[in-house]
Amino acid sequence: MKSYDVRCINEEILKMLDLKKRYEILNAQFMGILDDKQKDFLNKVERFCRKYDKKVDHTTADVYDWIPDFGEQGYITRSRAFSEFDLDWNGPDGYTGLTADLIRALALDQFNPQFNMGAGATVLCVNPLAEHHENQPHRLEALKELITGQAIGCIMITEPEVGSDAVRPLTRADPQEDGSFLITGEKIYSTNGPKSKYGVFYAATEPGNSKTVMQGYFQFPTEGITIKRVGIPWVPKLFLGQELMENALCPKENVLGPVGAGKAHMFEGLNLERMGIAILDVAEIWTALTHGLIYVNMREQMGQIILKHQGVGFLLTEAWSKAMNFTMACLRFCEKYDAAVEKYGGTLPRPLETSFIPIAHALKYRGAILAERISYEVANVMGGAGVCDNTLMQDLLGISRIQEIIGGTRQIQQYVMSMSFRQFFKMI
Ligand SMILES: Cc1cc2nc3c(=O)[nH]c(=O)nc-3n(C[C@H](O)[C@H](O)[C@H](O)COP(=O)(O)OP(=O)(O)OC[C@H]3O[C@@H](n4cnc5c(N)ncnc54)[C@H](O)[C@@H]3O)c2cc1C
Repeated sequence: MKSYDVRCINEEILKMLDLKKRYEILNAQFMGILDDKQKDFLNKVERFCRKYDKKVDHTTADVYDWIPDFGEQGYITRSRAFSEFDLDWNGPDGYTGLTADLIRALALDQFNPQFNMGAGATVLCVNPLAEHHENQPHRLEALKELITGQAIGCIMITEPEVGSDAVRPLTRADPQEDGSFLITGEKIYSTNGPKSKYGVFYAATEPGNSKTVMQGYFQFPTEGITIKRVGIPWVPKLFLGQELMENALCPKENVLGPVGAGKAHMFEGLNLERMGIAILDVAEIWTALTHGLIYVNMREQMGQIILKHQGVGFLLTEAWSKAMNFTMACLRFCEKYDAAVEKYGGTLPRPLETSFIPIAHALKYRGAILAERISYEVANVMGGAGVCDNTLMQDLLGISRIQEIIGGTRQIQQYVMSMSFRQFFKMI
């Protein structure tokens, strides 16, 4: 449910734009491309979101308040099995992996796109802990809290002067005799920062030298760290952080990667992280399209539904066909990746993992452009209804505009792809 002061959209149409109907039109389109297991899971998450939707107001709510309820169901992430824990959701429905995560995101995004992105940012804190917990109880505890929605997490890579060149942080790590580090510097744009209990960070013993980077995590509040909220008007529901660190203690047990290992740790999550954003893009695209498809079938102008005006209908076919192409590509990637993870017992051989990298970047690159274009075009064909505050279209217009910047800009995706072309050439 979304509240607003003035209803701008015809009451009958607005009713048809509710979550239930949008799920119905989404399911109708996905009937042929999902298998039974995928459809069952989609229906399951949709049922939960529909029930939840009845008791929340998307306009006034703090979306972070919903995290524990979704976490309990295993709806913050499905990208991994987390066999370390006996979780209800890696038991009964047993459905984990990138494909499950794509489906989870499809359903969550229709419910609330900004909430979906916030959950995705917690996962950026989950991945390093999942890779490097070494069965240490406090790390496992942090990981469990994050994936079950008991805690929110963030990743602190970007700094005011270090963005795209992320492997050369200026934040300083001063090693102490007991194996701990004192951290001094500034991070910025950390999604969820002000709401987080855990934050994974990178710092260098020689600021600016990528060979001296370490990786650790803080449990907030931490003495010596001040966290402020950064204003990003396109995602007004999300809390992004500026973290000011002055001799903040990272105890030895929170060091996930020793000095020199930070860069490799940053790169190991490339596939899952890029695909996390490509999946967000798929989800945003379909949240926009479901609004548009319902609206153009009901709104009448000049004596007929606007779908029948070719300027509207054909514009939407252009968007829809690109969306379906992109969705099929992402599904194919996810299914292939999941099959490889299963085949190799959880960890892909390095050359195989590497071969997925440019593809994940290609999907993130195209998906970000497409999400922005399709959200805009759908709003455009909906006219005033697409830009007023009565539906989630307004949220989509904002959030789809930041997709190219998060997780590495357009040029950085291109840079990584071009480096892979070099690798391919060296293999012949
Ligand atoms: C909403 C939002 C959420 C974010 N969430 C997080 C988060 O959770 N954690 C986190 O650590 N960071 C986060 N970020 C930061 C984001 O990852 C960075 O903004 C991004 O990597 C770009 O860095 P920058 O802003 O410093 O831009 P810059 O690196 O300064 O780039 C400016 C321009 O220069 C271009 N450029 C830079 N280098 C090259 C090159 N070699 N070749 C060609 N072009 C180049 C870029 O593509 C860009 O167009 C978030 C940002 C936003 C807006």
